[in-house]
Amino acid sequence: MSGSELDRALDLIVEIPDFPEPGVLFRDLTPLFGDAKAFARVIEALGEEVGDGVDRLAAVEARGFVLAAALGYARGLGVALVRKPGKLPDVAGRVDYALEYGTATLELPTGSVREGERVAIVDDVLATGGTVAATAELLRSAGAVVTGVSVVLELESLNGRSLLGAVPVHALRAV
Ligand code: AMP
Repeated sequence: MSGSELDRALDLIVEIPDFPEPGVLFRDLTPLFGDAKAFARVIEALGEEVGDGVDRLAAVEARGFVLAAALGYARGLGVALVRKPGKLPDVAGRVDYALEYGTATLELPTGSVREGERVAIVDDVLATGGTVAATAELLRSAGAVVTGVSVVLELESLNGRSLLGAVPVHALRAV
């Protein structure tokens, strides 16, 4: 498959002004997920970005789960499922963090990662970086090594990668 097919897939992302708060330009990946060829191309491209030497993927609900599940299946990797609060019976760690619009809490299920495991984080949009930075913190506190972050779209003006220190960030498209 060609780069232009990836461009065509990424062009399916819709911009919605003032959602969920006034002043936020929401990037909706729903049409991309709904197009089989576009979805496959994006998963293939994310797989190239994640690279080798990874033991597991990690993702945050909900859109991150869709990407990580497909990528984990394609690459033969399990997925650590980071949840919003109140969903888990047994929590290994919890972290509060700031969002582009509001605040949030994430929880890591007990037993999600092993000590020393190399874990790559996958998500749809990197905005302020709070979500992936919080995910990295949860993974590290459970003993994992965070090898990188792979996202479909990076909102460059928010400089989310600055929260991630030396962790490499790969974006299929930066806007
Ligand atoms: P952040 O923690 O600010 O990097 O936000 C990233 C998370 O919030 C991702 O999981 C996105 O799904 C969602 N998000 C934040 N900002 C946007 C946006 N402008 N458009 C779409 N999703 C967003």
